[in-house]
Amino acid sequence: MGDPRALDGARLAKEIEAELVDRVELLRSRTGRAPKLATILVGADPASATYVRMKRNACKRVGLESVSIELPETTMTETLLTQIEALNDDADVHGILLQHPVPAQVDERAAFDRIALEKDVDGVTTQGFGRMAMGEPAFGSATPAGIMRLLDHYEIPIEGRRAVVIGRSPILGKPIAAMLLNRNATVTVCHSRTRDLADVVREGELVVAAVGIPRFIRADWIRDGAVVVDAGFHPEKCGDVDLEAAIARASAYTPVPGGVGPMTIATLIAQTVEAGEAALGVSSGD
Ligand code: NAP
Repeated sequence: MGDPRALDGARLAKEIEAELVDRVELLRSRTGRAPKLATILVGADPASATYVRMKRNACKRVGLESVSIELPETTMTETLLTQIEALNDDADVHGILLQHPVPAQVDERAAFDRIALEKDVDGVTTQGFGRMAMGEPAFGSATPAGIMRLLDHYEIPIEGRRAVVIGRSPILGKPIAAMLLNRNATVTVCHSRTRDLADVVREGELVVAAVGIPRFIRADWIRDGAVVVDAGFHPEKCGDVDLEAAIARASAYTPVPGGVGPMTIATLIAQTVEAGEAALGVSSGD
């Protein structure tokens, strides 16, 4: 096989940010205001705190405003819901990010679903998911929407292809499966009860790994010429695929780091700008 193509999410994310800078400037010049993202972090999980910091830094880079809400580890569902409602009612806030995961005593689904649809810039609500799955306008879940944008940027064919998604979480596996299906891929979704997983993955011309286990997908499960999207990210700086070995078989792959991660943040920021444009009545095409 020829050298596989690296789908460079870090580079594309930079290009997206550069375009967003112009859109935010336009908004500011026309309305005197900038879109604002509210981030909510519940508890003190260091990885979650890092993700929220990275998202706020990205806001700064493109000129967005942000407000950070930090709630203690012991927060109960009702307190979080009240906080989300206050942000829903705040006309200066255009997007709300509730960092996943929340502590075990909090009903995360209830909290996600309390986010107003027009402020659901991370694409986590049941209604947003349903609309997206039905092909209606909605903000996509940030990680899968970022993956789709990356695949499109590199003109990876999707229609008619056999896609295998490993993982069925509400923020990743399920929405990426729906997005691929909407684009006419033939999609198989695998999970912890899937039998003969290796054989199923071998069917995939496009493989999306969203398992949450370091290097779980082995190179000999990857068919020759497959496109490998590795959504995983672990402290040991590897993903969910044994990428070093799998690259030899793939036609294209997302590097870890520098593939899916930066696209997630760029998508969140882009959707916040869109929400701001809609709320402030200015679009980039005006
Ligand atoms: P999750 O909620 O833990 O879901 C993991 C999924 O993998 C579940 O559906 C689970 O199946 C399935 N699974 C677990 N063990 C399996 C096995 N042995 N065989 C087959 N399937 C198995 O994880 P997530 O939130 O979707 O995240 C997945 C990965 O993406 C993680 O590595 C996470 O760090 C990464 N991630 C990256 C970003 C980013 O911005 N780069 C964002 C979010 C997540 P069941 O449903 O049967 O339990």
